[in-house]
Amino acid sequence: MAIERIADKVRAGGRVTAAEAVELYRLAPAPVLGRLADEIRARKHPERIVTYIIDRNVNYTNVCVAKCNFCAFYRPVGSAEGYVLGFDELFRKIDETIAVGGVQLLLQGGHNPDLPLSWYEDLFRAIKERYPAFKLHALSPPEIIHLSRLAQLPVPEIIARLVAAGMDSVPGGGAEILVDRVRRLLHCYGKATADEWLDVMRHAHRAGLRTTATMMYGTVETDAERIEHLTRLRDLQDETGGFTAFITWSFQPDFTEIGGAEATGIDYLRTLAIARIVLDNFDNLQASWVTQGGKVGQLSLAYGANDMGSVMIEENVVRAAGASYCMDEAEIVRNVEDAGFVAKRRNMHYEILGDPIFREREVPRMLELATARADGDTSVPDELVNYPARSRAGKQLRVIS
Ligand code: SF4
Repeated sequence: MAIERIADKVRAGGRVTAAEAVELYRLAPAPVLGRLADEIRARKHPERIVTYIIDRNVNYTNVCVAKCNFCAFYRPVGSAEGYVLGFDELFRKIDETIAVGGVQLLLQGGHNPDLPLSWYEDLFRAIKERYPAFKLHALSPPEIIHLSRLAQLPVPEIIARLVAAGMDSVPGGGAEILVDRVRRLLHCYGKATADEWLDVMRHAHRAGLRTTATMMYGTVETDAERIEHLTRLRDLQDETGGFTAFITWSFQPDFTEIGGAEATGIDYLRTLAIARIVLDNFDNLQASWVTQGGKVGQLSLAYGANDMGSVMIEENVVRAAGASYCMDEAEIVRNVEDAGFVAKRRNMHYEILGDPIFREREVPRMLELATARADGDTSVPDELVNYPARSRAGKQLRVIS
């Protein structure tokens, strides 16, 4: 039977073709996929260590001109619910992150036409001046493309300037499905085509940065398009070796324009497992407990994941679409250990930083994820007046403030 032949090839360490991956994904029972993925995980990580990072997922603005139809987070330019975080607010968030052992900000936001490149450079410099050892895992490829268009500078130059200002690595957001047919249907083709997304990562890797890769599935794509997404990532990883990890999660439909139903837990586990099988040149796969919940997140460790992602501290994007799972470090470690693994803290480069920090010193329990802003807080940061706005609403706001 074809499935057994493909499974034997995977067990022998062979690389599956796209057609074989589609066949396996469609036809192999979930436990078979899980077993194959777990065997690869065990080959790559025989010491049974499961890692996680303590960082904070901060969205510096929700104002966005891209208007992806799967996104419940963004607000249009001029919306009363639009916000931009101030430098002082961000410093406060970093202080809170460091207090619980955090080592970096995952900083992403909307494509706000009223934040020029100089705003990002000044912010990064200010952060690095105050917190020299703190890392900035910042700006997904579509945000870098947005800045390139706004500043009318090529992508490599934008990357060089952001690195000079303090950017340490690039998160793999905004990939959705790297197939242009899907991107057109999701209204995200304009913000970045599949080739453009991959090209930003290529430039980042060439500039010496490490990045992650993601996939959001469960909207309009076919199984074959999910596999095409994975093989395109695999090809770029062959070329550059710059991806540290892969993270997949299911589309969260609540309050989005396209709506629909969320993919099931089994769909998630099957997708994670096939990713582990196809992405044979990726060392690390994260469990997306933020979208799937702690229990499926824990099960992910039997379906190819070797990392529990981030303790997060704050989350705004997934919450806007109706999902709001929260696990602090103690809860993540409890899930890892209960699954028979050893939990270790890491940095973005997957270097081990140590044992769980709550066993070394007292840290406050975190039973709820923070938000970017308290409800109803519409304050405008003082420093915004120093940066030229492009939109009419932004210009008016500058005059008022
Ligand atoms: S997914 Fe990102 S780029 Fe798309 S609308 Fe939402 S914030 Fe904007």
